[in-house]
Amino acid sequence: MIDEGVQMHALAGELFPICRSITGEGVRTTLRRVAREIPIEIHEVPSGTHVHDWIVPDEWNVRDAWIKGPDGRKVVDFTECNLHVVGYSKPISVSMHLSELRHHLYSLPDNPEWVPYRTGYYNNSWGFCLTQRKLDLLEDGVYEVFIDTELSAGSLTYGELVIPGQTSDEFLVSCHVCHPSLANDNLSGIVVAVSLARHLLANSKRFSVRFLFIPGTIGSITWLALHSNVVQRIKHGLVLTCVGDVGDPTYKRSRRSDATIDRVMNYIFQQNGLNERIVDFVPYGYDERQYCSLGFNLPVGVLSRSPHGTFPEYHTNADNMEFITPAALVDSLNMATCAIEMVNDNCTYKNLKPMGEPMLGKVGLYDKHGAGRSGKFLELAMLWVLNLSDGKTDLLTVAERSKIGFPEIVGAALALEEAGIILKDGDSQPSLELELQSTSHTPETP
Ligand code: ZN
Repeated sequence: MIDEGVQMHALAGELFPICRSITGEGVRTTLRRVAREIPIEIHEVPSGTHVHDWIVPDEWNVRDAWIKGPDGRKVVDFTECNLHVVGYSKPISVSMHLSELRHHLYSLPDNPEWVPYRTGYYNNSWGFCLTQRKLDLLEDGVYEVFIDTELSAGSLTYGELVIPGQTSDEFLVSCHVCHPSLANDNLSGIVVAVSLARHLLANSKRFSVRFLFIPGTIGSITWLALHSNVVQRIKHGLVLTCVGDVGDPTYKRSRRSDATIDRVMNYIFQQNGLNERIVDFVPYGYDERQYCSLGFNLPVGVLSRSPHGTFPEYHTNADNMEFITPAALVDSLNMATCAIEMVNDNCTYKNLKPMGEPMLGKVGLYDKHGAGRSGKFLELAMLWVLNLSDGKTDLLTVAERSKIGFPEIVGAALALEEAGIILKDGDSQPSLELELQSTSHTPETP
């Protein structure tokens, strides 16, 4: 698995130099590279499209940007670091005195060696980011400012992959693709999602898994606005962000706080002694803000490591390739994989022989304990499954109540199901293909 961490880190390294924003060639180049790993579809939504209360903005592309000092030498150069130019800066070519230029310069006095990351998507302004150290050295005089950007009608680009399962229910995995050279906040989520998709392509699940590679905020709002027929199929979801730093994992609950994904993550975090790393939903952060907005209230939580804003490197050029590690990426991938496996296995059953205990010996289950389908399962696990299979209680609840491991409970349930003693519930929805054929029908909540 460490090899996989190295692979993920290497892919992040390839994507790192690309100058991304919420629209533009940087996102396309990034998605085209992702498409060489997994079969995503790349979608374009024209500028000016109304999406709920928002409008898809004009497309922004940057070719060059610099500031030349009074001696004619470049003091800030976009080609050295793409964080130097404020995202969505309008084009400009002008000379101005330092006192005036200062209003357009951003630095970090507390971390004088770092370049901050700033954007002004809807401001119609321009600016540069630079180190405090450099700012302090700027001499009085007249500076030449040049920003060669284009802000014009184009489109918003996002990537999507649906891995069909046996039912139309969906698990959503979402990550943002809109930051320039930032490793943890952006690239880590992309590369973990790519690996996760690769695993699921090889081993699809009961439900369908939908991957979204989207620009933050406007991307998720756009997707939600254009997929009202799909939204209700989303029964679970995770936003992956900041999943590459060496900090412990963090899970942020969905707005519902008790959705299956919340309970599954709670279980995984407890098993790993990370109870204190679970935080409640707040309507601030990444695209969970949109998925969990009042009108949607989707069961989507957030997996990260150090939460955004809690590490000083956040939104600076210190969030670089050294800031993320192969081991942390693998650990995050394992957690996300485990969450999807558990949600997949977390069924509800109906005990067909609820009057007293069924005679397990008759179906060869009584003497089988200690060996079985999942390697080992306990007689006690079967008794718990039988006792709680009322058609409403899921296996996760059985595991929690019995204090027997979830895999053992799943193994016991499978054995009982095979023996015809319990029946899986709520799995009778049409497949995704059937669902897609009937355009007007929307699936019922199970
Ligand atoms: Zn960010």
